[in-house]
Amino acid sequence: MSEKIEVVVRNIRHGEGPHWDDTTQCLYYLDCFVDDVHRYNAVTGDDSRLNLGDSTVKFIIPRQKGGFVVSQKTDLAFLDSWDSGKVTSIAKVEADSNMLNDGKVDASGRLWFGSTFCGKDIPEADKWPKHQGSLYSLDADGSVKKHISNISISNGMDWTDDNSVMYYIDSIPRQVWAFDFDITAGTISNQRTVADFSSTEIPDMGYPDGMAIDTEGKLWVACYEAGKVIRLDPETGKVIRAVKFPCERITSCCFGGVDFTDLYVTSSQFMMTPAQLEKTPLAGSIFKVTGLGVRGCKANIFSG
Ligand code: CA
Repeated sequence: MSEKIEVVVRNIRHGEGPHWDDTTQCLYYLDCFVDDVHRYNAVTGDDSRLNLGDSTVKFIIPRQKGGFVVSQKTDLAFLDSWDSGKVTSIAKVEADSNMLNDGKVDASGRLWFGSTFCGKDIPEADKWPKHQGSLYSLDADGSVKKHISNISISNGMDWTDDNSVMYYIDSIPRQVWAFDFDITAGTISNQRTVADFSSTEIPDMGYPDGMAIDTEGKLWVACYEAGKVIRLDPETGKVIRAVKFPCERITSCCFGGVDFTDLYVTSSQFMMTPAQLEKTPLAGSIFKVTGLGVRGCKANIFSG
């Protein structure tokens, strides 16, 4: 099976947080550092943009009650609607020295999201301040729970289709972890390593960032600074496939399309010099990969 990679949106600054909305066949994603949320309509090919002001938005996920749940630097917030652009904070979660990062909703409609350092000057990954972040969840009733501390850059997450396991990435120790998952209680336990990108077993894969699971239970992991999305077998920890992109800073991915067989992939121009940008002119583009021969499933939306 050979895949085909196409560019669907060219050259934003720092693509992140893709969420496929199957009801409208639209891809929601972010251009972080310029505080834009985007909606790419896969039917018409139109890409629309909404600026959320000085917000450091890191995820946008539809709510069952309408509108969206978004992050606003240290806060969780609701975006009333795409047309109004009105944002209301519902909880301050983090200290001012931190920001919220990637979020995803589990099959019960509970939002999971993490955090990381946030400073005036944002360093490269190898100089990132460690252990300042945490992993949290938000229930429909508005209650926020902290699950893990000492996270460096909280990133991708996803769950097995039987909801027995949650996978989770901390990018700076370069770890993909698994936990036993209790969907009713909303708790995780029994942390173990699925893949260690700092080991010789996963060479040249940079930093694991965003992640999506396919219907065969394999993980598709965006490899930041390695220009790839890899397919990992969480049972063996082995890389079973690598898809190469025409730029290095691959940030995240999600399945989409009418039958969830397309993989949408975000990338970044973050801290790239003009010379580097000239060498990789597609950096910061949103890609669609077809012909992978696998499929994902419908993304959950927030039940609150
Ligand atoms: Ca990320």
